[in-house]
Amino acid sequence: MDLGLRDRVILVTGGGAGIGEAVTRACLAEGATVVVISRRSQNVQNFLAEMAATNAACDFFEADLEDPEACRAAVESVAARHRRIDGLVNNAGANDGIGLEGGDPGRFLTSLKRNLVHYYAMAHYALPLLKESRGSIVNISSKVALTGQGGTSAYAAAKGAQLALTREWAAELLPFGIRVNSVLPAEVMTPLYRRWLDSTDDPETTLRHITDRIPLGRRMTEGAEIAAMTVFLLSSAKSGHTTAQHMVVDGGYTHLDRSLT
Ligand code: NAP
Repeated sequence: MDLGLRDRVILVTGGGAGIGEAVTRACLAEGATVVVISRRSQNVQNFLAEMAATNAACDFFEADLEDPEACRAAVESVAARHRRIDGLVNNAGANDGIGLEGGDPGRFLTSLKRNLVHYYAMAHYALPLLKESRGSIVNISSKVALTGQGGTSAYAAAKGAQLALTREWAAELLPFGIRVNSVLPAEVMTPLYRRWLDSTDDPETTLRHITDRIPLGRRMTEGAEIAAMTVFLLSSAKSGHTTAQHMVVDGGYTHLDRSLT
């Protein structure tokens, strides 16, 4: 299936590790040019080395997305170098456990900068070029937006807001033919997830406890499975009449009857 993404320019925040890396790879496989906007932390080093060694159509723009000025600079740099933006994947973020207890309003606000404000900033700054291309935005949210988890008020607020913004932007951007959708993962093994798992008393037992409750196949979702949905939503050729949707890619974890597991 040709998704029609050849030579399209796609921005992926946090696109050098975990789910974002899977999205980057899926876009590259479709012939797109990808601009990864991310911190240059340890977990992106191997990815960057591979991209350089294989001469992949992948640029890296180092930025801490918590700073809206860094978002603006990233988009300006893409505009200067590529002169177009066809897709934006807002992905970077982390469940940082700022709860009602244990947290405070200052940490809540900081967490919103970590997980929410850059979704708006990136869409805001990319908008003129997305209008020109009649492009597509995909917001990576989380099952936490739908289910609650406990102990993570700020992350839940950010992830829920991403779903609300998906529909708000889908409405606002109708006149420009820009489609906006979100993808909700639940349990995907990424560097972030691994760090969390390894912080538990017995990582293997914790992992089994979780996968035993995932109805389809009793397994984690692959990053590539999140990425496949994301590239489909980026593709005007194949999802040209799909907008304002919240796609839950989680093996039925969020929605199926508990008695099944
Ligand atoms: P990950 O393994 O930490 O990868 C994310 C990448 O983005 C990392 O390279 C990270 O850099 C970078 N990044 C994060 N915040 C950034 C910032 N403010 N500025 C610049 N770079 C930043 O995370 P992941 O598990 O793939 O998660 C990706 C998205 O999926 C997040 O929005 C997360 O909420 C969502 N999600 C994941 C799961 C899951 O099971 N993994 C489930 C539900 C939702 P550092 O390494 O420096 O942090």
